[in-house]
Amino acid sequence: MYASLYVLKAFGVTLRRFVESYVDDLKWFLKGGFGKRYTPDALAVRQSPKGRGIFTVQYPAERLPLPERFRGFPFLVYDDETGKPLCTACGTCARVCPPQCIWIVRASHPETGKPLREPAEFHIDISICMNCGFCAEFCPFDAIKMGQEIEIATFERDGTLLWNQEKLLRPLSYHAQIHPTDYAQEQAKRKPKKKKA
Ligand code: SF4
Ligand code: SF4
Repeated sequence: MYASLYVLKAFGVTLRRFVESYVDDLKWFLKGGFGKRYTPDALAVRQSPKGRGIFTVQYPAERLPLPERFRGFPFLVYDDETGKPLCTACGTCARVCPPQCIWIVRASHPETGKPLREPAEFHIDISICMNCGFCAEFCPFDAIKMGQEIEIATFERDGTLLWNQEKLLRPLSYHAQIHPTDYAQEQAKRKPKKKKA
């Protein structure tokens, strides 16, 4: 009995979306004529979560804008001015990574051999990474972030899916551009707090 009610409810949703597709089409048609329905500004609304009805995205010719919190694959952040990675080679990300696909080699002083707070090598096996975002979440230095790269299909693994430090590095300005909210929060946290009088 309950099952058939839910089936009817599901059919109702499909029917509503079907009708809304035509209503929405008409709305855009009245706004600017036949061609207006598929202009870039109309598509930006119609293909977004705010869109009404059923609407096909003609991928790969058309692409939906990715939300800010979308998790693709990780990237390492470097300072735009100094060019130095923010990573201190602490190893936290490698420890928390569930499928253990991060490898780090800490750099050492060329003369004294003392360990330095920077990586000499940093590798991520992207074919194993499951986009969980733990590495970015646990990094104490905001040195690793989740990127928006998703089209990485390839016919061979070793040369293209084992990403080294060179391939992983992106400037801090790139992080600010794709994660404006996250970046603003990080900057606010870094501001020195005013001393109480
Ligand atoms: S990316 Fe972050 S957590 Fe990973 S080793 Fe570097 S500083 Fe540590
Ligand atoms: S996103 Fe998850 S699986 Fe991928 S490297 Fe980071 S911790 Fe590992």
